[in-house]
Amino acid sequence: MKKILVANRGEIALRVMRTVQKMGIKTVAVFSVADRNAPHVKFADEAVCIGEAPSNESYLLGDKIIKVAKELGVDGIHPGYGFLSENADFAEKVEQNGITWIGPGSKAIRVMGSKLAAKDAVKDYGIPMVPGIDEAITDVEKAKKIANEIGFPILIKASAGGGGKGMRIVEKEKDVEDQMKRAISEAESAFGDGSVFIEKYIGSPRHIEIQVLSDTHGNTLHLFERECSIQRRHQKVVEEAPSVVLTEEIRKKMGEAAVKVAMACDYVGAGTVEFLLDENKNFYFLEMNTRLQVEHPVTEIITGLDLVEQQIKVARGEKLEFGQEDLRIKGHAVELRIYAEDPLDNFMPSVGLLEKYRTPAGEGIRLDDGFEEGMEVPIYYDPMLAKLITYGKSREEAIQRMLYAINNYEVQGVMTTLPFGKFVFEHEAFRSGNFDTHFVKNYYSAEKLQQEIEEEAKLAGLIALKKYLEDQKQLRVPGSKVQE
Ligand code: ADP
Repeated sequence: MKKILVANRGEIALRVMRTVQKMGIKTVAVFSVADRNAPHVKFADEAVCIGEAPSNESYLLGDKIIKVAKELGVDGIHPGYGFLSENADFAEKVEQNGITWIGPGSKAIRVMGSKLAAKDAVKDYGIPMVPGIDEAITDVEKAKKIANEIGFPILIKASAGGGGKGMRIVEKEKDVEDQMKRAISEAESAFGDGSVFIEKYIGSPRHIEIQVLSDTHGNTLHLFERECSIQRRHQKVVEEAPSVVLTEEIRKKMGEAAVKVAMACDYVGAGTVEFLLDENKNFYFLEMNTRLQVEHPVTEIITGLDLVEQQIKVARGEKLEFGQEDLRIKGHAVELRIYAEDPLDNFMPSVGLLEKYRTPAGEGIRLDDGFEEGMEVPIYYDPMLAKLITYGKSREEAIQRMLYAINNYEVQGVMTTLPFGKFVFEHEAFRSGNFDTHFVKNYYSAEKLQQEIEEEAKLAGLIALKKYLEDQKQLRVPGSKVQE
């Protein structure tokens, strides 16, 4: 491969291009008019504007992207995450046009893109599943009967759902009808597919996922777990690897289960198998994401592997250069997603001009971002500005470095999840490892954060005052009086 086009924007476009460049391959960026001055555009060897700001007029225009790729003699397309990355038709078209798709085959994307098809594909492999049904349901009476059998609370889920959307918790039988109707109509409008199904609502789960990697020679490995239980709106904000709760035995079992899931859909490349882990450390298969995951850096750090490099090598038909027994966990890594959102106002998007944008650097700090000071944060796309990743020999060291990095990250012009991150990394429950997906509901409130911010400001004021008084003392000429 001599030239790779990255069909994405923001931090992930830049992150992918860095590896492509490191491998001696030329990079092509595509961009919308809103991203004309974005770092991924400046970084690329060639860049082509593909349309207007809304994604469906630019980053989702598969045919246009393929046309650009052909015109520029591109041999591979990397889709990043989001946008076209899980679009099986696009993956097929890329290949039909003689361009290498840096991702799994369209069959795997299609099967795993539907939660129901995914359950069906893995059912013969002995993978533990969340109790529930494995087909779409529309009949309310039948749904009530099933819910009673499983036991309330239940979760009504959209088969085509993603990004934490299309889920409804139902506590009582009398609410089944209403919630089911809502879930179906929501799924129809959000995903164009109204299929919903029922799962047991696991009370206090942790979200633990396994990174897998397969080549085209029949080798499938797992690269251990990521803990992603700190979520808001069923969406991850803080991730880490490894997880503090997995014993070697469970890690091995989950890893083996993930490998089986990948094999069940003839997976090729890097993928993620998501599980829920209950209080008794039973794990259940949730779904598989057939792309590079946002939180992949924590796995890169603890394994020493570059996952984008592995994806490209696998796409070139190369054999994995290592086996399961060669892989070891080294150290600990934590990640904070820095969203342009207001943690004091229900995590509402906060777009605008990045008046000030100063990033931290230092030992054990990795920053994957796609923004610069003076740039506008557009309303059209996912509001993630950056991923702050820190690592250390121990979890404690990684957390300390994270707190240092957060304190040295300055953003003005938009609100961000940085103060929320500080709240999490300082919190007793997080530090002790004793938390689940309800961390935000159980411990977090805007008032608490506000209180912490105020206390800190007071403390900073006191420190400044102390320093001022000390400086005054030093300036004082012996025997003279201090001027008030
Ligand atoms: P999506 O595809 O939208 O990300 P997932 O099935 O991956 O949906 O679930 C996202 C999150 O929703 C999980 O990490 C977990 O917090 C919660 N969740 C999903 N299924 C269940 C369940 N059966 N019981 C409890 N929580 C669940």
